Amino acid sequence: MKKVYFITGSQDLYGEECLRQVAEDSRVIASYLNSKIDGVEIEYCSTVRDEASCVEACKKATNDESCIAVITWMHTFSPAKMWIKGLQFLKKPLLHFHTQANEKLPYDTIDMDFMNLNQTAHGGREYGFMCTRLGVKREVIVGYYEHEEVIEKIKRFIDVARAVDFSKNLNVAMFGSNMREVSVTDGDRVESQIKYGWNVNYYGIGDLVKLVNEVTDKELNDKMAEYNSLYIMNTDNLDAVKEQAKYEIALDKFLTSGNFGAYTDTFQDLHGLRQLPGLATQRMMAKGIGFGAEGDYKTAALNAIFCEMAKGRKGSTGFMEDYTYDFTRGEEVVLGSHMLEVSPDFASTQPKIEVHQLGIGGKEPPARLVFDGVEGDAVAVCMIDLGDRFRLICAKVELVKQPKPMPKLPVARIMWKLKPDHQTGAAAWIYAGGAHHTVVSSALTVDDVRLFAKLTDTELVVIDENTDLNALQKELEINDLIAKLK
Ligand code: MN
Repeated sequence: MKKVYFITGSQDLYGEECLRQVAEDSRVIASYLNSKIDGVEIEYCSTVRDEASCVEACKKATNDESCIAVITWMHTFSPAKMWIKGLQFLKKPLLHFHTQANEKLPYDTIDMDFMNLNQTAHGGREYGFMCTRLGVKREVIVGYYEHEEVIEKIKRFIDVARAVDFSKNLNVAMFGSNMREVSVTDGDRVESQIKYGWNVNYYGIGDLVKLVNEVTDKELNDKMAEYNSLYIMNTDNLDAVKEQAKYEIALDKFLTSGNFGAYTDTFQDLHGLRQLPGLATQRMMAKGIGFGAEGDYKTAALNAIFCEMAKGRKGSTGFMEDYTYDFTRGEEVVLGSHMLEVSPDFASTQPKIEVHQLGIGGKEPPARLVFDGVEGDAVAVCMIDLGDRFRLICAKVELVKQPKPMPKLPVARIMWKLKPDHQTGAAAWIYAGGAHHTVVSSALTVDDVRLFAKLTDTELVVIDENTDLNALQKELEINDLIAKLK
């Protein structure tokens, strides 16, 4: 299991008895957090009292592969020059937990010993100054550790830290390259690896075709039985469905053997495949594998990372594309979909397997899952490459029920409303340079994306109920200026 180290700041001035109490309180808090937070082990590491112990703790956290983050707490005052070297070594997401062992002040009994032992208000400021002075990107959470809202914030931090850790070890396979002439889906793969850790590599589609051709009858029959148990088989063309079943089996083998968490393909490079992978890709997305169509490696990676961040939460997460609008005044809505590849994670109805002609790519009619989408609050997020930096754009959206049935539309779809209104939201997205491909998630919030952007030092533009187009354009100009100064 992944770990989060809990490191407590103190010093020698108050004597051994005080340090024993500090250690004891730290154990109590770490074990309380452990009892409330699943999926990770929060481990009290040590109390640091000088530069050497601080460096030792920070090195231990940095070098431990299983450690995804560090929580620091200043129980007493902790002169922060001793933290400089340690913080310079620390390469893990950092949470400064500004809490106390006590919730309430013991008004009747409080004396100087109590104040010296319990001075996070004092020690946290000294330590906070040093983090700011060093430019350390960190999350600061303030509050009594047993308060529910404080625990929720720590959970968020851990979800995002886990996603950052996942990102640093993410391998992305590109079957084929970026779609010819398309700009926003392209990007600097070397920079992506330097900044986010993504190892993105090209593979010939023939590597996948070889595995498709090796699928056994037993594997195929088992896969078809699985489809029949999960979905409504709304087609007589079982041959086309079997073709996609083979693609799923082959993709599973390829991605598992290469430890890939995400992949892309493109309809322009399908040599040896009879169909564009549709149902197969939808199935992979449902397993949490990131996907980007038309060679969009950035969205594929983001998709996988956001699925990791959303683990254990309610809601749906997946690759999406803004396709077409209903411009009815006051009732504007975006229809989001793709040619085939919409994650069944978004399904509000039992998906139907259907086979239809695809008017692009010149291949046989592909099998795909068709369904209506879920409702609820969500975010739509994209990443663009501006040449000198990456930018994340995050729009708060509301997933809505489709106003009317769309019986002739042969693909899965979701629909959403923009904030603060359709005209402003869409214009803001376009001014910011936002892509047509996104990751949509009803499991994540703007706060999650904001924290991910902060911990990865990525520019973020948020579009929400407060967005004003003039202010947004000014923000973008200021962001350009900041980037030039860096
Ligand atoms: Mn597309």
